[in-house]
Amino acid sequence: MLIEKVMELMNSEIKQRVQELRQLLQQASYAYYVLDSPIMEDAVYDQLYRELQQLETQYPELVTSDSPTQRVGEKPANQFTSVRHNIPLYSLENGFNIDELKSWDQRWRRTVETLSTISHSIDAAGYVCELKIDGSALALTYENGILKRGATRGDGVTGEDITQNVRTIRSIPLRLNVEALHSSSLPERIEVRGEAFLPLDVFKQINQERQKAGESLFANPRNAAAGTLRQLDSRIVAQRRLDFFAYTLHIPGWDDASIANTQWEALELLQKLGFRVNPNHKLCSSLDEVAEYYKHWDTERLNLPYMTDGVVVKLNSFRLQEQLGFTQKFPRWAIALKYAAEEAPTRVENIAVNVGRTGALTPLAEMRPVLLAGTTVSRATLHNSDRIAQLDIRIGDTVIVRKAGEIIPEVVRVLPELRPTDAKSFVMPTHCPVCGQPVVREKGEAVTRCVNASCPAILKGAIEHWVSRDALDIRGIGEKLVHQLVDKEFVRSVADLYDLTEEQLCGLDRMGKKLAQKLVEAIAQSKNQPWSRVLYGLGIRHVGNVNAQLLTQKFPTVEKLAEASQINIETVYGIGEEIAQSVYQWFRIDANKSLISRLQTYGLQFATTEEGLKVDNANRKLVGSTFVITGTLPTLKRDEVKALIQKAGGKVTNSISKKTDYLVVGEDAGSKLAKAKELGINQVSEAQLLELLATEL
Ligand code: NAD
Repeated sequence: MLIEKVMELMNSEIKQRVQELRQLLQQASYAYYVLDSPIMEDAVYDQLYRELQQLETQYPELVTSDSPTQRVGEKPANQFTSVRHNIPLYSLENGFNIDELKSWDQRWRRTVETLSTISHSIDAAGYVCELKIDGSALALTYENGILKRGATRGDGVTGEDITQNVRTIRSIPLRLNVEALHSSSLPERIEVRGEAFLPLDVFKQINQERQKAGESLFANPRNAAAGTLRQLDSRIVAQRRLDFFAYTLHIPGWDDASIANTQWEALELLQKLGFRVNPNHKLCSSLDEVAEYYKHWDTERLNLPYMTDGVVVKLNSFRLQEQLGFTQKFPRWAIALKYAAEEAPTRVENIAVNVGRTGALTPLAEMRPVLLAGTTVSRATLHNSDRIAQLDIRIGDTVIVRKAGEIIPEVVRVLPELRPTDAKSFVMPTHCPVCGQPVVREKGEAVTRCVNASCPAILKGAIEHWVSRDALDIRGIGEKLVHQLVDKEFVRSVADLYDLTEEQLCGLDRMGKKLAQKLVEAIAQSKNQPWSRVLYGLGIRHVGNVNAQLLTQKFPTVEKLAEASQINIETVYGIGEEIAQSVYQWFRIDANKSLISRLQTYGLQFATTEEGLKVDNANRKLVGSTFVITGTLPTLKRDEVKALIQKAGGKVTNSISKKTDYLVVGEDAGSKLAKAKELGINQVSEAQLLELLATEL
């Protein structure tokens, strides 16, 4: 009975999810194809689509003919005349990695094996790899070499007749160059397919103009291209400089004509006939070669003047293509391999709270694991309660996660359409989840803190920071060991590390005599680390390792820094009011003063030595590197970038020369970018620069 009840409950949950997904995908598809104004990112659409596809495979009884998994595109809008395609325009099966490429390969091979009609060798066929241009598909009909009709894909069976607009695209020949065929002749009617797209610079320009005119902006070049093609006024289309790459040639009865028997030959023929064919196609004889092409274009595509969202792999032989045919939606002989998403949807299963070394309580979303830019992500920071309120995030919500600057995953937004009825709101705890003491949120601050100085979470964080690479660099003490040391009360402050004995350590989990001896030695060694590292290790708020170096240069002994007034500290270049105040106050607290005296008795360095200065310089990331900045950066102002580079020991100059090591590139980069390219100078984005400086900040 109980099992039946559980099954019933599960089934109704699955049904509900399938319905939710369908509704959402239908809304998205309408906004994307008909309104040219997407309501979600493509990667999000793809993931939700996959989830629906998986549920439908698992529960085939739930498949309906109107499910988005069974349909291509959308019905055409009615401002243009609808036209029935001579040959349907299918979509492409999607894959997102090499494993999916391999399983597609196995699938079509198995299908071929079951078709006894195929007599020739499968392996001789080869694969044609093409870039997947992110634009809008067009079907062009030519009769006796003259362009007769241009149509959008629509739902694959019927499209919109946009011939007038198509005629304005200069790379689409109005008359084919049939003379180039010499002896062979073209059949009376042929159909050419390809992608109309907007080059990136044109897209940018259109959006700038729309912004000036107070019009809504296009979300991406694809939507801008699709929107342009469906303009009622062909003069506007003509101004927009759409471009076109041809990739398919349909010749009725190709078998008899035999002017092109493979995709490779068809691409050559299209070029001869006067079309632009994307030059980056490649004939590959093995899957390894295909994988290499896919990998190569993952980064190389960023240098192209148009958008691509993957590569298309097609079986070269037309004979094989014809034998394999189509599913309801896709050709079996091709696959679109898309590139990893930087954003993806997933579900929040819980919101946990982490207590850091400064006592800050950070809410963390624990999520259903999701693949993001090549790694699996299951936790993302939600920063603080203000951010949670702003996102209006609840436990059970479906959210979009992104890798911020490629490093830390964060929740970008919630999809309220998918909120389950039992979604739970999050309330910041009133007591520290680790020590149970009340927490405080100071007026004007976004962060809630545990202020109990002996809170084990704060102590653990402080010790982890003390032993970290940029601080005292004590190798061999990781998170697990720190937890044991604190939980067993062997260590109640960083100074206690210097009293640890081999015997004590030997009693800990997985700790042998040799390892214990090594650890005691490593701890003793850390007494030689320079004063700047000790200062950084103390974990004073806002004092990162760069600031610690700046401070120790001006204050060569701890006594001098401890006696300095706040104003005096502020005079250090790069040290602002907030940092100076934090340092000044830290030295006014008795517990901190006694910590320093204790560390001094153990022999740690609290004064600058020649040796220490050398180590400092070696640790400044950008010493000896020269930077130039160009364009508008996404988040930082020029002065801020300059200060960051200088703090890390780098130099910033105004013009590019052979001596420049890096060009930091923002939007609307000017002639400096061209010059840097000419001289082969490394270009870095703001995110890459920050990554370069990550341990400096
Ligand atoms: P698709 O874009 O994944 O692939 C098929 C299309 O690729 C073809 O129609 C053709 O236009 C294009 N293409 C580009 N270069 C090609 C080449 N060299 N050879 C062959 N074809 C080439 O499939 P689709 O059915 O057009 O659209 C589905 C995709 O659209 C989804 O995967 C999703 O990413 C996106 N979409 C997004 C939303 C949204 O809300 N963001 C909604 C619906 C669809």
